[in-house]
Amino acid sequence: MLKKDYKAHVAINQFDLNTLPICGARTRSGGLCKHKGNVRNGRCKRHGGASTGPINQTFGKNHHRYVNGLRSKKVIAMRKLLADLTRPLMDQNQKV
Ligand SMILES: [Zn+2]
Repeated sequence: MLKKDYKAHVAINQFDLNTLPICGARTRSGGLCKHKGNVRNGRCKRHGGASTGPINQTFGKNHHRYVNGLRSKKVIAMRKLLADLTRPLMDQNQKV
């Protein structure tokens, strides 16, 4: 690629900072933020706002708060079933 072609290529694909809006968020000193905002919400990288959380909802082992599955619906149901099945045996043992 020739140098002039490369410059033209860069000029076409370059991100134009002048078209971006100014952030304008209230700073701790009371003024307005002067950084360039982004295209998504107009705020800079420091004032982008709170995260909205994960975009795709995950379930089961892929969930970010999954620890060991001992409190999952299946395990709770299994535990309850086992307790119901073993309760008569335990009562018999206590009577003897
Ligand atoms: Zn800002």
